Amino acid sequence: MELTAPQKENIQKIEHSNLFTPGFFSSKVSEVVGWARKNSIFQFPMVTACCGMEYMSVACSHYDIDRFGAGFPRFSPRQSDVLFVVGTISHKMAPVMKRIYEQMTEPKWVVAFGVCTCTGGFYDNYATVQGIDTIIPVDVYIPGCPPRPETVIDGLIKLQEKIEHSGFESRPGK
Ligand code: SF4
Repeated sequence: MELTAPQKENIQKIEHSNLFTPGFFSSKVSEVVGWARKNSIFQFPMVTACCGMEYMSVACSHYDIDRFGAGFPRFSPRQSDVLFVVGTISHKMAPVMKRIYEQMTEPKWVVAFGVCTCTGGFYDNYATVQGIDTIIPVDVYIPGCPPRPETVIDGLIKLQEKIEHSGFESRPGK
């Protein structure tokens, strides 16, 4: 049976639609996985100093970080996908932090919470790590001494954006 002109046109449209472009299905799966991951953040809080007070206040019901799927901390690195480093890291603590990071499985992300973790802050001395990114990769920096809850929530939103678009890639060098 001969196809009519509109039928031929429809077939051409389907053939040229996005459905048949290479990578269509893998990019859709990646979007769904990104969406699911960004809303189920299992954080490992490594709390070492005074920033911990602000971390606890943000984790309480008033700021409701459950909205970001991040309200349920895990205290095993093997069950966590985001390492929250909260407070000053001394050179003595640095190997512990690195070990915790290495025990987490991919995909994983790191948040530097407070200026001490970002840069060493005003502890410019022989005992303090001058920024945890000299030891492990950091995805989001939350500045402040301590950071205000609004800044922490802003950092969480930035982390979610990063998680959503990270697809199936591993970190460089993995
Ligand atoms: S950034 Fe300020 S509040 Fe946070 S650990 Fe350092 S000194 Fe304490």
